[in-house]
Amino acid sequence: MKLNSEEWFTEVYPDDGCALSLELSEKLHEEQTAWQKLEVYQTTGFGRLMLLDGCIMLTSRDNFIYHEMMTHPVLCMHPAPENVLIIGGGDCGCLREVLKYPSIKHVHQVDLDERVTWASMKYFPELCESNNDPRAELSYTDGVAFIEQAESASYDIIIVDSTDPVGQARRLYTEEFYRACYTGLSDNGILVAQSESPLFHKDLILSMRSRMADAGFNDTATLFFPQCTYPSGWWSASVAFKADRPSNYRSVDIETKYYNNAIHQAAQAMPQFMQDTDK
Ligand code: SAM
Repeated sequence: MKLNSEEWFTEVYPDDGCALSLELSEKLHEEQTAWQKLEVYQTTGFGRLMLLDGCIMLTSRDNFIYHEMMTHPVLCMHPAPENVLIIGGGDCGCLREVLKYPSIKHVHQVDLDERVTWASMKYFPELCESNNDPRAELSYTDGVAFIEQAESASYDIIIVDSTDPVGQARRLYTEEFYRACYTGLSDNGILVAQSESPLFHKDLILSMRSRMADAGFNDTATLFFPQCTYPSGWWSASVAFKADRPSNYRSVDIETKYYNNAIHQAAQAMPQFMQDTDK
């Protein structure tokens, strides 16, 4: 079946010889922001679609899996999270999930590009329903510079919901950045960062965890979960613990569509090929 590029968006993963296509019904927005190309489309099967520099950021249909898995596992592993920093996350999906917890006192979201949040408020209002929560603070600046000047022990959890490790996001995957996060976290603080596809980016995941350990974190883990519209359809978030990795977690009564107690446990199971570092 030959796809008409007028009617289909295709994201190609050249290093892996594969691609993903979504059928389009309408282009809703396009602009070159100060930082990246921003596009929004209506699709026939996945609701709305946001692209940054031609890469899929989210769709209406499946973003819930990612936003829940980037937030609930670490929020439930921390004994009493109150202050959260989100670096990136301009679509506000993680912000919405964090603010479901009554114990949260303050969430500071620091995205480079306010046009991403503008587009999300216009085309994905369901993700932005907590933006006016008095506990939420939205800033627009570089996340690396922000955490480097943050006071020590300011945050219980830091969530890095960034684009891929290229361009302005590249420094969000460095030991220096993780060291600044370590300093910015409280004694039993937890860092979680989106860590790409286990199938396509195994070495990146392992190197991220190695750099987190080199930055001083006591332990690390990776959460595995499906994400249909991301490369390979299989995604991950890697976690760094300033103190001991919690042996248990709080089971909280929060409305979710993917995350639950069983998923919390299963997502931490390490696939065999990820353990066989010689393969
Ligand atoms: N879930 C998506 C993924 O896994 O690729 C990420 C979505 S979120 C929209 C990515 C955000 O990272 C963008 O809004 C982008 O502006 C932001 N970003 C990239 N580099 C950044 C930096 N150095 N500081 C702060 N935000 C950054």
